[in-house]
Amino acid sequence: MQDRPTPPADAEARRALPPVICYPTDTLPAPPMALYTAARAALRATGNVLVPPREAATFRVPAGHFFRIRSVGGPQVGDLNLWNVKDLSERFYSGKTRALHGTHVTTGDRLWSSFPHLRPMATITHDTLGWYGFDSYGGSVHDVIGTRCDPYTHNLLSHGGQYHHCCHSNLTRALAAETGLQPAEAERHVHDVLNVFMCTGFTRDTGQYFMKASPVRPGDYLEFFAEIDLLGALSACPGGDCSAEHSSDAAACHPLEVEVLAPDPAALAGWASPPPNRYDRSHGLGQ
Ligand SMILES: [Zn+2]
Repeated sequence: MQDRPTPPADAEARRALPPVICYPTDTLPAPPMALYTAARAALRATGNVLVPPREAATFRVPAGHFFRIRSVGGPQVGDLNLWNVKDLSERFYSGKTRALHGTHVTTGDRLWSSFPHLRPMATITHDTLGWYGFDSYGGSVHDVIGTRCDPYTHNLLSHGGQYHHCCHSNLTRALAAETGLQPAEAERHVHDVLNVFMCTGFTRDTGQYFMKASPVRPGDYLEFFAEIDLLGALSACPGGDCSAEHSSDAAACHPLEVEVLAPDPAALAGWASPPPNRYDRSHGLGQ
């Protein structure tokens, strides 16, 4: 920690200025939640993937279908990547999702895609942990502030450790197996995640990223509506419920289930996938 400079005479006045929300979302196109609620009233399971502990698995969800990430066996955190199944360069953008919806997401929030697309990839339609809110430490669940546990940071912090089941590596192996890409190529497509079920925040005194035991219990699920044709990959984090540590085999780990569900097509009458962002991409250089 560096020495703090002497505060100016008006330091308290400057600190007392009220914050302004960076991205007020009242002009953001609202998701048609009533339509989704009606559609999810009658869902038919079309696929099921079990993600083994300390591994990842991929799944595909057609636009207009739902998917649920479910806790089975015991408290477990999942690291989620999403891509446009037809174009892996369009992928989940956790930073912009955080800027728009806040540090943690729940029902009604959307997962946005990378530039130049910047459109909703998925909308959260149900969250059985929606009761949690923010605890007294400032912690909440389903964060878009973490990145994913990875072997590079682990190597730095452990003075040379080699661990191969961090979420980054699990996602890399799963994407390589799904696509046939070489692992080094698949690795480039792995990106910052939605930390499903993870309970996290920033400490009030030092602003450091913290985690604590996830409140998730078997049967809990987070449900999404796929806005575009999706390829997903989910890693069952080696941190288990992330109550103590990750990037090792020390924590108790459990599988996670991904269930894909189809609504009655008539329930989505009039709905269409959102188009890519309409900015003209001229960047001030003319057309
Ligand atoms: Zn992890």
